[in-house]
Amino acid sequence: EKIIFNGEIVEKSEVNIDIEDRGYQFGDGIYEVIRVYNGHLFTKDEHIQRLYESAEKISIRIPFSKKDLMQRLEELVETNQLDTGIIYLQITRGTYTRQHGFPSEEIIPTYVAYTREMPIPQVSMDNGVKGLLVEDIRWLRCDIKSLNLLGNILAKQQAAEAGCYEAIQHRGEEITEGSSSNVFIVKDNCVITRPATNLILNGITRQVILKLCKENGIEYKEQIFTVNDLKQADEVFISSTTSEVMPIVQINELQINSGTPGKITKKLQNLFKREIEKLSE
Ligand code: PLP
Repeated sequence: EKIIFNGEIVEKSEVNIDIEDRGYQFGDGIYEVIRVYNGHLFTKDEHIQRLYESAEKISIRIPFSKKDLMQRLEELVETNQLDTGIIYLQITRGTYTRQHGFPSEEIIPTYVAYTREMPIPQVSMDNGVKGLLVEDIRWLRCDIKSLNLLGNILAKQQAAEAGCYEAIQHRGEEITEGSSSNVFIVKDNCVITRPATNLILNGITRQVILKLCKENGIEYKEQIFTVNDLKQADEVFISSTTSEVMPIVQINELQINSGTPGKITKKLQNLFKREIEKLSE
């Protein structure tokens, strides 16, 4: 199995990461997950753009051009003959004697990317899944796709232990996002998702969905909504690179839309599928 290490495609077993890599010690780095359908990278420009933005926000200088990075990723998918799955890539600040502050001398960021087979979660998408409301205890820069995921991990674990697919986080009354997804509600035929501020990651899937609403005359707004709004919604769904448009049919003990995926949710699933099919045309 081949991976990318600092820009070169190499055998996975040849790679060693230093114990003083700042990603390992502090979570001092950033990452992306890109979907691959039939060997094609989905919304690749948007993911690479967000990667560079995350890097910039924490003052990591990526020592490759976007074009070079993209070419290597495509080469990796080809080399590993990945059909349907994901690319995971992460860039840390690099390796230095442990100290909290940035190293005073320039260090080289550590860049790793690998591929993994991952099917589309079709059964869950057809039937819908459960969500668990969890207080959002994360920091105030959730707009950065940082390796620091403890808050997200704890939320997801809590959901999993309750038999739920995703944690639906809220800061007080305000719904923020899932542990690894964005949250949407549908009320009176209007799709609502909260504005992308510092409190959430502006999901690429979220952006695709809003674009699809716009292009297809589906009413939508980016507006803050509450736990109560969520409970009284006609439909609820979450979005992410790996889960696409995923219906939420139960929240805690409360069924949404009698426990079935809603009409607009299904419409968006179909539109999203068309968007994927365009890749292979
Ligand atoms: N919010 C969080 C916290 C995430 O980790 C993710 C993705 O994993 C998302 C939202 C969805 O983002 P995207 O649609 O770009 O995968």
